[in-house]
Amino acid sequence: MYNIEIVCFIDLQGLDSGQSALGRVAESTYNIDRGDRHRLHSVAGTEDRDGISCLLQSSIPIYLTDVNWPLLTISKGFFECAISNQTKNQMITALVTDDQPSANAGWGNEDDIVVCDNTPIDDGHCGRADTERNSLGWDVEDIELPVDIKLDETIHSQRRCVTVPAKGTSKICSWISNSQFILDHLSAGSYAAAFTSLNGQVGVINFDPYKSIFMSVYACSKLSLTLSLLLPPSCTYPTRSSGEDRDNRGLPAFTMQLSDLVKRLHSGYQLTTSGQFPEAVRRFQEILLHIPLLIVNSKQDLAEAHQLINICRNYILALKMETERKENLKLTTVDHKRICEMVAYFTHCDLQPIHQILTLRTAVSTLFKMKNYKTARSFARRLLDLGPRPEVAQQFRKVLQACENNPTDEDVLDYDEKNPFTLCGITFRPIYKGEPEAKCPLCTASYQIQYKNSLCNICQVSEIDKPCGGLKISSQIR
Ligand SMILES: [Zn+2]
Repeated sequence: MYNIEIVCFIDLQGLDSGQSALGRVAESTYNIDRGDRHRLHSVAGTEDRDGISCLLQSSIPIYLTDVNWPLLTISKGFFECAISNQTKNQMITALVTDDQPSANAGWGNEDDIVVCDNTPIDDGHCGRADTERNSLGWDVEDIELPVDIKLDETIHSQRRCVTVPAKGTSKICSWISNSQFILDHLSAGSYAAAFTSLNGQVGVINFDPYKSIFMSVYACSKLSLTLSLLLPPSCTYPTRSSGEDRDNRGLPAFTMQLSDLVKRLHSGYQLTTSGQFPEAVRRFQEILLHIPLLIVNSKQDLAEAHQLINICRNYILALKMETERKENLKLTTVDHKRICEMVAYFTHCDLQPIHQILTLRTAVSTLFKMKNYKTARSFARRLLDLGPRPEVAQQFRKVLQACENNPTDEDVLDYDEKNPFTLCGITFRPIYKGEPEAKCPLCTASYQIQYKNSLCNICQVSEIDKPCGGLKISSQIR
């Protein structure tokens, strides 16, 4: 502290705060009288009246190790006392105190043994006697050991060393090492392993749609608890087993299950029924992306997961094709033949009965308007077989009667209802049985062979016809 600050402190106490007594104590403590204060003020100001201004420096603090800091009262051991308070000779004196038994008194009884020159000598006792005579009381002697005895260095070194406990495995690391499921790796934040598994199992090459899913699963894998406002929140990791199931011990709790995807499927159905095709397509694609992350425990759940893939694929394909057909209708030069073919294909997408009726109604109406009565008659029969509402059935019986009166087609359509076919997911054209095709390893959508190694248009994440290991989502197959 500079002296000038002390003067200011004294002035403040005396003038501003009214603590004149404290100011006087400070004056006497720092030996500052009024003359010094005036001089110090001169130093602090811009004037140098006496020409004696100089930099005032505080005294050098002296650090005394023994008295400066209070120390805890601890009991010193024998060697600590001896080293700190006594010299080497005093230590020797401390070792040999009066209350300790005398070496001669305790160990010198053998001095009374008289050994005669003619007596057969016991090597041990005779040698000890000679040593005792030479050392006056101590019978310390060298021990003759066999030459082949060696000191066990390992035991010797182990006694000297401190064994540091081995570092344990964190909960998250154990998830990665104990599980091969993608969901567990995501819960641990091991995105690289999850990406590798997705690519190896179902040929995923476009990971952008998976970003939000990965972040959501990782965020759900742990709980944050605020125990006190003064402490940072602590994290806990919910597990899916308390310990009896050895295979699942310590693994993260399920953040997503098959039943959750089934609920999303029903919402996709509702969007389809209400005609919100783009929203429905997004919903079915979300379900498709989540299926490789599932962990199912039974063959029935595994079969339902595969069935879910087929349902989502069919709906995405049907709704995308119908969306494209409606876009074609907006064009100035409408391709009537193509429109008729697309509505015909739309009826073969294996949708739910309620949606299948809607596709057939669309097909019959479109084909009848475009004078393709023969094909419209076939769809009208299929529609009536599904048992629509009475008023709908009555209307389409009349349409069927009109088509049967003139069973001809205006256009030659690329459509053979008697020949099984699948639809290409990009061109929306039929691939009849026996023709070469490529398949998506995730959604199993079919494509014409020229689209091999392209990005799937249905799931939009996998590479078409990429050789893969297949879904590994069953806990019964490890
Ligand atoms: Zn696909």
